[in-house]
Amino acid sequence: MSGERPFTVALAGRPNVGKSALFNRLIRRRRSLVHDLPGMTRDVLEADAALPDGRRFRAVDTGGYDAEGAEPIPREVRRRALDALSGADLIVLVMDASAGVLPPDREAARAARATGVETIVAANKIDRRAGSEGESEAWELGFPEVFGVSAEHGTGVEELVEAIAARVPAGAGSLLAGSDAPRPPREIALAVVGRPNVGKSSLVNAVLGRERAIVSSVPGTTRDSVDTSFDHEGRTIRLVDTAGIRRKGRTERGPEVLSVVQARKRIAECDVALVVVDAAEGPSAQDATVASYVVEEGKGLVLVANKWDLAGRKGEAAAKELRTSLEERMPFAAWAPVLLTSAASGRGVSRVLPAVLRVAENRRRRLPTGELNRVLGRALRDKPPRSASGTRPKVFYVAQTGTAPPTFTLVASRAGALHFSEERRIENLLRATADFEGTPIRILVKERSRRERSR
Ligand code: GDP
Repeated sequence: MSGERPFTVALAGRPNVGKSALFNRLIRRRRSLVHDLPGMTRDVLEADAALPDGRRFRAVDTGGYDAEGAEPIPREVRRRALDALSGADLIVLVMDASAGVLPPDREAARAARATGVETIVAANKIDRRAGSEGESEAWELGFPEVFGVSAEHGTGVEELVEAIAARVPAGAGSLLAGSDAPRPPREIALAVVGRPNVGKSSLVNAVLGRERAIVSSVPGTTRDSVDTSFDHEGRTIRLVDTAGIRRKGRTERGPEVLSVVQARKRIAECDVALVVVDAAEGPSAQDATVASYVVEEGKGLVLVANKWDLAGRKGEAAAKELRTSLEERMPFAAWAPVLLTSAASGRGVSRVLPAVLRVAENRRRRLPTGELNRVLGRALRDKPPRSASGTRPKVFYVAQTGTAPPTFTLVASRAGALHFSEERRIENLLRATADFEGTPIRILVKERSRRERSR
């Protein structure tokens, strides 16, 4: 890297919010060096990381910056942490969304602000129950961008990396020759889940067989798992846990409970999930449970009704009936595309990957704030949404505060969960505005900050 100083991103925050887990996520790919500065128990850790397009940055884990000093942290360590913060080009302030904003978080925010370095917030542990609430609380820390992430599951990390990428100067220590080098395709992690025997493995084989692409085995993200990677239409598709899908071991053939556990793991690792159901038997309660995990995790969803060749009746009417029964079983996923396939005859298999690409794209869709407010603004002002507690908070504006899945924040006179039917109404407005087929949408309500109020 020609000795040039790399763009430096410092992770700050009180101890135990998950800085090191996030740090490990950031440097996971193409790690070049990690060095512990010697002699300290909790200390600044640095590593070089690469962005998806090859530009490099340096990630710095400032360790346990604890302004409260609840635990005795050697002064030297604290000084280094502060030095690392003020020497950074960007600070990512990490907080624990499941715990909400605590006084030491505000302290850490103050320390970050005092450096004058641009700061964005990572609200970690959003996979936990109270996570999404804490995520909206994180806005209180007063920084312009908040990213909900789960360092443990990898959720939202790509988004955060994009935010970092947007700040790293072009050509910064690029590994690629010249700035006109083509951007490597973004990877789409694809999970194939469903009950034993619905034809997951056959479907995977049918899809890969059609592709005639060069397929390679790559180590999976979870321990001992193996994924399969191949290129399709300029994108890399990584099939999560291919070995597990193909293995006819205890888990697949064993109790259904185990297949649900396995599905959960695959879903956590993916961008898009294919939930495969048996077209002849119709969707079961377990299929619905698995699909609901996909939605909860904010992943893209494609419903595949396989073994269509075995369905007793065929034709338009039967297909419609099947779609209706899917909708009845999974009313929460009415926006998911439904494909009818036969892995045995190959029917419908060619539609699988195009649907996956479409859904992956919709999941990263971003609506410009202007358009968003043009569409939603009037509807929400004319009829303020009812909250779950029955009040009608006034909505000042709407912002898309995240993608993957698209997340919208209503900035209102008071925070609080929306009434279920109101959430539906807003979601429908959003879906009528842009193509969000196959992706869940999250809607948060945030109270206007005091600063905004006084403007
Ligand atoms: P998995 O447990 O979900 O991976 O299911 P498999 O792919 O092992 O398939 C289970 C059985 O169903 C196998 O005997 C397959 O040959 C068969 N099968 C899979 N897909 C189809 C299909 O579309 N039509 C028919 N008729 N049989 C299928």
